[in-house]
Amino acid sequence: MSAARAGIYVHLPFCPYVCPYCDFAKWAYDGPAAARYLAALDAEIAAAPPLHGTTVFFGGGTPNTYEPAVLAGLVGRLRARFALAGDAEITLELNPDLALCSGLDVWRAAGINRLSIGVQSFVPDELRVLGRRHAPADVVEVVRRARAAGFANISLDLIFGVPGQTETSWRQSLDAALALDLQHLSTYGLTIEDGTPYARWFAREPSAFADDTREADLYALAIATLGEAGFEHYEISNFARPGFRCAHNENYWRNGDYVGLGVGAASYRDGVRSVHTRDRETYVAAALAGEPIPGEAETLAGDERIGEAIMLALRTREGVDTGAFRERYGVDVRERYRSAIERMEADGLLQSGVAFVRLTERGRFVANDVCAAFL
Ligand code: SF4
Repeated sequence: MSAARAGIYVHLPFCPYVCPYCDFAKWAYDGPAAARYLAALDAEIAAAPPLHGTTVFFGGGTPNTYEPAVLAGLVGRLRARFALAGDAEITLELNPDLALCSGLDVWRAAGINRLSIGVQSFVPDELRVLGRRHAPADVVEVVRRARAAGFANISLDLIFGVPGQTETSWRQSLDAALALDLQHLSTYGLTIEDGTPYARWFAREPSAFADDTREADLYALAIATLGEAGFEHYEISNFARPGFRCAHNENYWRNGDYVGLGVGAASYRDGVRSVHTRDRETYVAAALAGEPIPGEAETLAGDERIGEAIMLALRTREGVDTGAFRERYGVDVRERYRSAIERMEADGLLQSGVAFVRLTERGRFVANDVCAAFL
């Protein structure tokens, strides 16, 4: 029997600094701690069950706080352990701080073939508010160097709803991103996460933050601007040139299996959703001792599994492929959810045909509410 197939996510949690809005599992860089974490990650990789890895995504944290050769070595070990195809999509999340980007040639030679750059804004004041330390010009330079190193698949992330952001300044960021002529862009509405400095700021001064109407206006501007520039809006937050969708993330939305390695990393295999502890020392100690990584797991079955799969599929441009869904889950989505679908079609939030159910353009603005009807 051949090994199961899964996307591989690798969490590298160290950052050169900590941003005030961030809720990821991350810590300010500390050399000895980062080395010990890497040893734990290697132990987890060595002990992982046999798998055929389809894609790899290095996320964080700031993966490029590690030395270039360290990341290259990690790619080699993942390739060997998970039988990665030579042309497998391997993405590296990149902080565009120039001091952290000296490894472009090394990463490319190691087989990393996609970069996802955490730009967030091209407006200096907004970068300051977000606590980011790079300058817009750094991004332009990183992209230039990345191209020279042979990267032909580059994405960048932008945030809308930043305190102080206006339609004009958001347009400025979108235009600056388009001027780089990249293959992929992601735009995320700012979320205020409990326990962060931003949550405390919001509690003191809610008017500093965009409300739902304002966020919707900024999102609409992104959709219109990127659409006019020829980007396909293929998922709620993601836009790609033809042929450049992110294969790793598409697997998530297809409810495919994936394995998360590292502290706080999430996995989904055979209907079981699990997440590693977010306590770094607990993770490191367990991995180095060869013990199971503490965390939580739940088996999704019946309606819960179906609702989850519908919710993920609705995020995408194609929506739910009802024929494929019936084959995989034994459920006729249009029949099972007839009244909810009809109601939301009447409201202009969903559209359906013989073979699909998908969000309308308007439905994308309230995707969470629409998806809730299937959960
Ligand atoms: S937003 Fe990114 S760079 Fe900033 S602290 Fe979080 S993981 Fe680190």
